Amino acid sequence: MPVGRRAFMGGLAAATTLPAFHPAAAQSNKPAAAKGKTLIKGGYVVSMDKTVGELPVGDVLIEGGKILDVGKSIRAADATVIDARQKVVLPGLIDTHRHTWETVTRSLISEGDLAVYIKVITGTLGPRYRPEDVYIGNLLGAVGALNAGITTMLDWSHITNSPAHADSAIKGLADSGMRSIYAYGYSPDPAVAKAPDIETRRDTDIRRIKQQYFRSDDQLMTMAIATRDVAGTPKKAFIDIKLARELGMRVTMHITKAGGITKLNEAGLLGPDMTFVHTDGIEATDEEYQMMAAHGGTISTSSATEIMSGHGFPSAQRWLKYGLRPSFSVDNETRMPADLFAQMRALVMSDHMLETDRARKEGGKPTLIPIRDVLEFATLQGARATGLDAKVGTLTPGKRADLILIDLDDISLIPATDPVATVVLRVQPANVSWVFVDGQVKKRAGKLVGIDLNRVRRLTNVSTKYVLGLMRDAGEDIRSG
Ligand SMILES: [Zn+2]
Repeated sequence: MPVGRRAFMGGLAAATTLPAFHPAAAQSNKPAAAKGKTLIKGGYVVSMDKTVGELPVGDVLIEGGKILDVGKSIRAADATVIDARQKVVLPGLIDTHRHTWETVTRSLISEGDLAVYIKVITGTLGPRYRPEDVYIGNLLGAVGALNAGITTMLDWSHITNSPAHADSAIKGLADSGMRSIYAYGYSPDPAVAKAPDIETRRDTDIRRIKQQYFRSDDQLMTMAIATRDVAGTPKKAFIDIKLARELGMRVTMHITKAGGITKLNEAGLLGPDMTFVHTDGIEATDEEYQMMAAHGGTISTSSATEIMSGHGFPSAQRWLKYGLRPSFSVDNETRMPADLFAQMRALVMSDHMLETDRARKEGGKPTLIPIRDVLEFATLQGARATGLDAKVGTLTPGKRADLILIDLDDISLIPATDPVATVVLRVQPANVSWVFVDGQVKKRAGKLVGIDLNRVRRLTNVSTKYVLGLMRDAGEDIRSG
């Protein structure tokens, strides 16, 4: 049954039926500082900070959620030491666009194209999703991300069927303990999205959420607005952008058709606080890329998911030509795993393919993307695209301690002659052995810690049964929709 106006307005009451819902806990989502000092010793340190550089044998000292020092041989007699020999030490990876609510649809419609995805996921399931499905989708997605070395994720939450759906999304992210950006989206339910008073409701709810959960920027979770599509409904997108700026939030936008950037430019709304998603699919003109670059806009590419979905072929060279350095995202787990390494590889493959093809036709040599640039896109550029580059994205003294350790002595990785090439071209989430978020250990020696995984499994089963029932009722095939 589609969620109508009354359900939207009554959503807050429904939120109390969620498992262990404590709004106050999510409200103060500033983490407790990790106790004592931790010295990560003797690893191959890839700081992504030009001043600190790359240290073949280096140490990272953290305390109270902060990076105190990065250097060749740090002395800290009072620190707990983690042996990082045979490991690479990196800033945590950053996923700049994820429809996390869809996580329980993993592996569904594997034989369907983008049209099937839109019909089944946002058409059939989205309008019928309950707040508790959003909660577990977000929690499961966030935990899977942590397991894969993603320490920051932007939740592109276009499942705002009611205020309770928004509360549940925030609660799911908060319960994972990861660094996240909750991007308030819209509803896939036409009855909600096209309601006559939808603008008033959105405005009220966005302000409520900002006030209730995100009064400070100095916390683990921050807020953005995921705008409506500028190509389809420019006036609504303009409203979203203006509200985001009034409230001091960033904007993230799907760009699905050519002309959208031009409309924003003509309206004088382009700015450095904007991230554009799936730009390889818009058949944008060169002028539109120039407009984006001139206003300091950032890009999010879900390279693997975009190729899988037929959005288009991501071309790093085309972006770099205009000085646009992309960030990476998973987009959705229906079609791709929570694996930013796979997204990095997909961009390398697509870029090589396009450049080789170009060189074959035009003569000369293909321009191939430097491997270290690809890792920069997954870390520093992710931090820029989420407005968090003063806090994370590099291993720089003074920044927050979001970092990961990857085993290099795994039988599938040796000899790791160039550890950065190993990370970009070979590593899988299982090779991520340690994950720190704000100095807190989230994965230790290959095992997630501090998260009740059986509870996550149990709630996932409940939601999956409901989702499969919706598909059955709608006559959707689980493979092809
Ligand atoms: Zn998307």
